[in-house]
Amino acid sequence: MELNLNAMRASSAPAEKQEAVKLLVLGSGPAGLSAALYAARAELNPVVLAGLQLGGQAALTHTIENYPGFPDGVGGPQLGELFQKQAERFGARVEYETAESVDLSQRPFQVKTYGKTYLADALVIATGASPNHLNVPGEAELTGRGVSYCATCDGWFFKDKRVVVVGGGDSALEESLFLTRYASEITIIHRRDQLRAGAILQRRAKENPKIQFIWNSVVTEVLGSDAVQGVRIKDVQTGEERIYPTDGLFIFIGHTPNTQIFSGQLDMDERGYIRSNMLMETSVPGVYVAGEVTDSTFRQVVTSAGMGAAAAIRATHFLEEHS
Ligand code: NAP
Repeated sequence: MELNLNAMRASSAPAEKQEAVKLLVLGSGPAGLSAALYAARAELNPVVLAGLQLGGQAALTHTIENYPGFPDGVGGPQLGELFQKQAERFGARVEYETAESVDLSQRPFQVKTYGKTYLADALVIATGASPNHLNVPGEAELTGRGVSYCATCDGWFFKDKRVVVVGGGDSALEESLFLTRYASEITIIHRRDQLRAGAILQRRAKENPKIQFIWNSVVTEVLGSDAVQGVRIKDVQTGEERIYPTDGLFIFIGHTPNTQIFSGQLDMDERGYIRSNMLMETSVPGVYVAGEVTDSTFRQVVTSAGMGAAAAIRATHFLEEHS
């Protein structure tokens, strides 16, 4: 019997559903949920497509100590839940979906998820950024088997083990300090001899007896078959290479904005950040941005939340003028 594969695929594909919304928010980090709060209070009934991680990158942070209003700090996931609850209280709806493609060539803007198309009169893009990879041999193969980009998620697996951290910024130091709860020894490998991180984190890391530094060095290979057993390190000044044994490798070397689906439709800089002005406007009227998808400078919960509020306020004005 001949199988009609196309008919089978068509029948197993989800039915195409459409929903018209006044304001669609892409992303559920501090920027997206703040935009949703302001849009909800403007009675726009915003829909938030949560994406892969409710709460965004902030939800992967164990404790946030610099968000105003929480003098004793607040858990990253907890702050995300509070943002969500506050936005929902005024009528925002969070959908656990991810935007797969967009058409910004005309209004309403089309945003497709798996099995559904949203038709949005205005859009706030708050899709954030993803951690960069070293792109060295062994890294991809051993991700989840000792290679990680999130200490809060995976630190527990390294109880009484040795770990290597790559990077010299705030993330590398903050996550290293968090890892001291579990790991017996943390070695931070940095490509220069000076850290980029802020003074407080530098002091805390340098004073912590579990943390040591290897300067002017890069990881060129991750070693191990089923699990990480070591890394190959190269001294960038002498060129000398050596194998450094470790049970885990945490990589914190910056981020890349999640803007692939907007490519060719919005102005972006050479690194893929969406260009915006002080009013959070993009090159397409009615499309606004907020948070790390447009901001490679501040990258704070408070600045992202502020941008989200600003984007929603401007989107509200836009809709009033274009309804
Ligand atoms: P970052 O500040 O861009 O630092 C990235 C680090 O990775 C730098 O030290 C960089 O080295 C190193 N690096 C980059 N590419 C590398 C490569 N291919 N191989 C080896 N090393 C590499 O990124 P971040 O630490 O994620 O911080 C991002 C932003 O978030 C910053 O603005 C930061 O202030 C903010 N942040 C703040 C907090 C806080 O306030 N508590 C916490 C986390 C993040 P070089 O120094 O040589 O360039």
